[in-house]
Amino acid sequence: MSVFDHIEFDEHEHVAFCHDKGTGLKAIIAVHNSHLGPALGGCRMWPYANSDEALNDVLRLSKGMTYKAAMANLNQGGGKAVIIGDPRAHKTPEMMLAMGRFVESLSGKYISAEDSGMSVADLRTMAQETTYISGTKANYHFAGEEADGNPAPSTAYGVFTGVKASVEHYFGTGLQGKKVAIQGLGHVGYRLAEHLHREGAELFVADIYPEGINRAKEKLNAKIVSPDEILKLDVDVVAPCAMGATINRQSISTLKTKVIAGAANNQLETEDLGEILKGEGILYAPDYVINAGGIIDIYHQKMLSSNEALKSHLEKIGATLNEVYKRADEQNLATNRVANTIAEEKFKI
Ligand code: NAD
Repeated sequence: MSVFDHIEFDEHEHVAFCHDKGTGLKAIIAVHNSHLGPALGGCRMWPYANSDEALNDVLRLSKGMTYKAAMANLNQGGGKAVIIGDPRAHKTPEMMLAMGRFVESLSGKYISAEDSGMSVADLRTMAQETTYISGTKANYHFAGEEADGNPAPSTAYGVFTGVKASVEHYFGTGLQGKKVAIQGLGHVGYRLAEHLHREGAELFVADIYPEGINRAKEKLNAKIVSPDEILKLDVDVVAPCAMGATINRQSISTLKTKVIAGAANNQLETEDLGEILKGEGILYAPDYVINAGGIIDIYHQKMLSSNEALKSHLEKIGATLNEVYKRADEQNLATNRVANTIAEEKFKI
């Protein structure tokens, strides 16, 4: 199949491929839409089974970034980069420099940042070859935390404001005493747990590794649940903060939660699940709206703005969700469909 006929192509403006023989770099950069500004999006390094899988991923992710940037009211377009390879086994500084040169070759049409398999240090190495790098200077953090350039603290704070708005919309109350199940206690999930604990929520947590959940048990009085059970709990909120597609045809039939609001990208395996959630009376916070804190942080790093400006922008995530919920109620539509429409109204100009 050609790239233009690819099922995920969806009017991409630019798709570039790079093979750097000397370093073994095989990478793709996709720019979905730059009507609102240069395309901003992370670079992911993943051991894709083949280049088709990598192309599929980069096209889906870059399109998602267009919608995310539009909903966060950023003058940015959507783009993404992927490197084919195992980050633990194949990554070298020379490869990162070659990736930097690849980014530079697009002359600023695409600005890179972190994603799975790529660290702040990798981005700093790429930055030796290109100025089109962001996500290395995050300074928004909470008392006692190190600011290392990673935007996860902003993502977590944005998700927290989104959970608050969603609970307020559904129950008409605050978080005090609300039961929240968090799937995945990594960079974002653990910090979300801290915010929720501070607001008096009762926490249930699951992870496939013990560090985060044990810490949450000890410090946040969270109850540890097995990864197989976490989505099935009879709670007020489920917060998916691990991988994508955890809301699928199988898991949806076992859900007892009233609200789904979490950090993971591409939470719904397919868009039509939005209608099923609506039919079940479950409020779904569209993922790219609630998890936009990372890109908002990266944008403010680029603008060299203050912590206060960043924090106030993150707090607007709740208001954006309210706009989605209001329109969904008025038009009797699923929240993910409404978010798509609002985003398209903003970037399809
Ligand atoms: P992370 O890798 O630090 O954390 C993910 C956690 O999920 C890990 O602790 C992992 O062990 C756990 N996990 C994996 N599979 C699991 C399972 N089946 N059950 C329970 N736990 C499981 O990643 P992160 O940076 O915290 O990001 C979490 C999610 O949020 C990802 O989907 C990411 O794409 C999305 N996201 C992150 C950011 C950011 O700023 N980091 C921004 C936007 C979206």
